[in-house]
Amino acid sequence: MDPLPFIDLKKQFELLAPALTRALTQTAAAAQYINGPQVAELEKALAEYVGVAECVACANGTDALTLPLLAWNVGPGDAVFCPAFTFIATAEVVALRGATPVFVDIEPVTFNLDPRHLEAKIVEVEKAGVLKPRAIIPVDLFGLPYDYEAVAAVADRHGLLILEDAAQGFGGGYGGKKAGSLGHVGATSFFPAKPLACYGDGGAVFTDDADLAAVVRSIRGHGAGADRYEHLRLGMNSRLDTLQAAVLLVKLDAFPQELDDRQLVAGRYEEALAGLAAVPAVPGGRLSSWAQYTVRVPAEARPEIIDRLKAQGVPTMVYYPKCLHLQPAFERFGGRPGDLPASERASREVLSLPMHPWLSPDDQSRIIEAFIDALQLG
Ligand SMILES: *Cc1c(COP(=O)(O)O)cnc(C)c1O
Repeated sequence: MDPLPFIDLKKQFELLAPALTRALTQTAAAAQYINGPQVAELEKALAEYVGVAECVACANGTDALTLPLLAWNVGPGDAVFCPAFTFIATAEVVALRGATPVFVDIEPVTFNLDPRHLEAKIVEVEKAGVLKPRAIIPVDLFGLPYDYEAVAAVADRHGLLILEDAAQGFGGGYGGKKAGSLGHVGATSFFPAKPLACYGDGGAVFTDDADLAAVVRSIRGHGAGADRYEHLRLGMNSRLDTLQAAVLLVKLDAFPQELDDRQLVAGRYEEALAGLAAVPAVPGGRLSSWAQYTVRVPAEARPEIIDRLKAQGVPTMVYYPKCLHLQPAFERFGGRPGDLPASERASREVLSLPMHPWLSPDDQSRIIEAFIDALQLG
C-alpha cells in the first residue's frame, strides 16, 4: 500500500488550482514582487479574520516573534517566560536577543503553559533579583489556544507583556476571541505545515496597539521612518513576498471550510480512539485549529508503535522529542532533567497522527485500524 501523506498539500493544490494558478500568474506578470498590493490586502484581511486592529505581515513565524521583542527592547538582563515543550523558535528568539528564557512547565491535559507554575517561576525570578521579568510567550500548541484569562491575570499581577505564539493556533479560538488576538501581541507562521500556509516561508504579527504596530512595521523594513531612506532605528529585512501574499489570499478564502473539516477529522479520531489512547482534550470554550492531532502512548512502546504504523504506510511525527531546557543550545541557562516533569513526560509519550482537512474517511479508517493494531502489539 502507498504511504499516506502526513499533510496532503498536493490535494489542497488540486482543489484550489484554478484560483491559485491565476493568482500566481497574475502576480508574476505584474512584477511587483516586493510590497505589491496583495501584501496590504492580505494584512487587512488577516486583521479582520483575527479580530485585531493591526496586522504586519513578515518573512516567517520566527521573525513574527522577534519583531515585537525588538519593539519592546527586550534584551540582556530581561527574563521572558515560555514553555519548554514547544518548537525551538519560541525560546530561540529570546536568547538571540540576549535575554534569558525562563522555562515553565505545561498542563498535562492541554500541553500548554501551566498558569500556576508560571506564577511560581515569576516570583522566583523576582525574589532572586538578578533578572527583570519582562514578558511571557504562551504557545497555542498543536492548535489549542492557551488559557489566556489565567495567563493574563498572572501577567497583570506582575506587570508583564504577553506575546502569543500562535504559529500553530491560527484559526483557533477561545470564547469570542481568535488565536493571535489573545495577548498584547500575537505572532503566527505560514510555513507549509501550519493551518494557514503559503508556498514557502511567511508570518504575521497581530495587535490592537497602533503604536506598537507602527514600530514593528518600521523594524520589519530596516527601521525606516516615513521616508524610505531615513532610518529611525535598527531593523531587519523581514518582508512577506507579494507571491506568498497572493497565495495566502486564495487560501484564506478556503480556510473557514478547511477549519470545519479539521473538526470533523478530529471528531472521527476521538470517536474511534477515546478509551484506547489518551486523545487530546479541548476544554470548554476553546476551538482548536488542529495543527496537529497528538495522542499519548506508553513511552516504552512508542518506538515500536511508530515502526508498525510506518510498515502500514501511516506516517507519524513526534512533536517534540526533547524539551528546550534540555537542548544543548540552551545549556547555559542550566536546565536539568526533572526540572519540568509534565513537559519531559509529554516529550516521551506524544505521537502525532496524520491530520489535515483533506483526509478522507477511508484513509482515516486505515490510519485508525493500523494505530489500534499497533497499540495492541505495543
Ligand atoms: C512553526 C513555529 C514557529 C516558527 O515559525 P517559522 O515560520 O517556521 O519561523 C514558532 N513557534 C511555533 C510554536 C511553531 O510551531
